[in-house]
Amino acid sequence: MNWLATLNESQLQAVIHPGGPLFVVAGAGTGKTRTLTAKIAYLIMQGVKPGRILAVTFTNKAAREMKERVIDMTGPHAMDVWLYTFHAFGLQILRRHIAELPYGYKASFTVIDEDDGKKIVSDVIKDLGFDSKMFSVKALKSLISLFKSNRMEEFERSDEEKIYKGYQTYLRENQLIDFDDLLIYTLELLTDYKEIRVLYQHRFDHVLVDEFQDTDVIQYKILKILGEVHKNLFVVGDPDQSIYGFRGANYNNSKLFLKDFNAQEVVLDKNYRSTNLILNAANKLIANNFNRPSEKNLQSDLGQGEPIVYNKEQSDYQETFYVVNQINQLIRKGYQYDDIAILYRNNALSRLFEDALIKDGIPYIIYGGISFYQRREIKDALAYIRVANDHSQDFYLKRIVNVPKRSIGLVSVRKLEDTARHLGISMFDAIDFVILRGQAKESLLKFKQIILDLKEAFDEMEDLYQLMPVLMSKTGYMDMLKLEDSESSEDRMDNLKELQSVFTRGDVYYEGTFYEKLNQQLDQIALYSDLDQDVTEDNHVKLATYHQVKGLEFKIVFMVVLEEGIFPNDRALMSTYELEEERRVAYVGITRAKERLYMTYAERRMVYGQTKMGYPSRFLKESRLNTDVPKEHVTYAKESHLLKTGDHVDHQVFGRGVVVSVDQDIATIAFAMPYGIKNLLESHPAIKKV
Ligand code: ATP
Ligand code: MG
Repeated sequence: MNWLATLNESQLQAVIHPGGPLFVVAGAGTGKTRTLTAKIAYLIMQGVKPGRILAVTFTNKAAREMKERVIDMTGPHAMDVWLYTFHAFGLQILRRHIAELPYGYKASFTVIDEDDGKKIVSDVIKDLGFDSKMFSVKALKSLISLFKSNRMEEFERSDEEKIYKGYQTYLRENQLIDFDDLLIYTLELLTDYKEIRVLYQHRFDHVLVDEFQDTDVIQYKILKILGEVHKNLFVVGDPDQSIYGFRGANYNNSKLFLKDFNAQEVVLDKNYRSTNLILNAANKLIANNFNRPSEKNLQSDLGQGEPIVYNKEQSDYQETFYVVNQINQLIRKGYQYDDIAILYRNNALSRLFEDALIKDGIPYIIYGGISFYQRREIKDALAYIRVANDHSQDFYLKRIVNVPKRSIGLVSVRKLEDTARHLGISMFDAIDFVILRGQAKESLLKFKQIILDLKEAFDEMEDLYQLMPVLMSKTGYMDMLKLEDSESSEDRMDNLKELQSVFTRGDVYYEGTFYEKLNQQLDQIALYSDLDQDVTEDNHVKLATYHQVKGLEFKIVFMVVLEEGIFPNDRALMSTYELEEERRVAYVGITRAKERLYMTYAERRMVYGQTKMGYPSRFLKESRLNTDVPKEHVTYAKESHLLKTGDHVDHQVFGRGVVVSVDQDIATIAFAMPYGIKNLLESHPAIKKV
């Protein structure tokens, strides 16, 4: 157990704490996650059966990494530890007990993601005969979510309530469950069904929770029930990093926990992640929040380190060039792409940086955005698999019945749906009965045969890796993409190949028959929210929102687009509560950096096609030490450009040219006749540097 020796005194105290409720409350980078991991290992070494430990993390990735770490520390039997996100834990419970609830669910229900949920909301709006222009599907979906999770008492409008009911009925009739349900039904089972409650109160001896500051009310209630009997609850959190208020996370849970369980507290105060100039900035920034349960000043033994670089650019484009230039310099200094993260307030801000990185040939990956499993071709492939696996999955059948195109129009699909409803059978079974014109009926019967063929092929399979080739050929999907032969169809083929690797990896992770492995794999996929992309870590610059990098660390962090109205966002300009949450988000950002931190913004930015002035985010000033201010001019970088005099370029229309000069973001380029000298936006997508 020599890893015990690597812990500091307070960490050790938490790890060897004899049991009972304990709250490790500490700032960023003080080793909370490391302590929690060590605690699990320690419990196992003390003889607690791994299967009787439940640990809850914030992302699937964190859960996986923690499990690997515990296995390293204690051996393979640590496989049995229940290490899940709250949602994944809920799924485990529901797979076992959902049939007890009075809603008609079977254990084989399917989990839908946010996108599927929105699709259903929009179908319901149409079904009810409402004018879809009158509703924002996205807003309605969040209202439904608020209402379901008891964060809103009632709907203001009766049509909204009708849509909610239609949505809920659709989910139940189709054996579908959304992310909210995973927690709500779990709590319902634990609250209303004594046997189930008692079962799980005695199922575990220890319950541990990371990132406790971001648990919501329902999650806290689940924890409270699970810990009520043995009271061995070990939770770690940092109130200054509570950034999910908008989803109902509530720092009040910390107070409740201390009160409900009369928990002891352990404070960790030494930071092991960042140099002190970075920590000073974090400390100074967060001191601007009034609503702080405890004040702490982070310090580390890692020296002062490099000064933070504050950078102002004239335009949004130039900000991206600046970042790209700096990245190239850092690489020359010996850093890897992998060491670098570009962080922004919301996903939509990624595109500009992506464009600049692509132009410069810098490899990057983007967390979130359109995550892999949200992509059209991936959803299509999975829908085929789901329908072949279980013919009664109407929702997925609708997705693929006409993909590739088989001249089955919307009207035919609607008729099929009506027939199914009328006869009380699945749409798949209704194919034989529906009355349609020759062509459409024939196509439906062909589709049915494809599904039956797939099912027959599945029955013969032993391993998941066998699945994709058969799927692609039998469904005609590959032919469709080949015919299309566009750049995007190539990307889509690549994505499908990546899905093949997902299944191949599944063969290593899961045990059992083909169908047992398949169902586990499909569950796992359903749990990937857009928060939580499963990216294979190669040597890439990472682009992410602050929310997506909670708990992670990078040698180099760029915090970009630090402009009032964007970060802090517009809403925060009116409300202290929101402003303080935004400030905590910035605090999370700063504290991700280990060695170097860049904070950048632009004075002009294109927003929805219009150029707007950008004012520097207040977080720039708030994080800056007074002694930094005179240095401002020194640390402001010179204007950065994508092109410089003498560069050779290739223009889609004008052909080869040479850059004569660059002023602001306009490049003067000499092309061969008949084009001659042109003034062009240097970042124009038609121009490529050669
Ligand atoms: P966050 O609040 O961002 O989630 P955290 O408190 O969970 O941070 P960790 O991620 O556990 O902090 O640790 C931060 C870094 O410090 C990690 O690289 C970790 O390995 C290192 N670290 C933590 N404790 C020690 C220690 N006692 N000795 C050496 N390194 C440590
Ligand atoms: Mg952590």
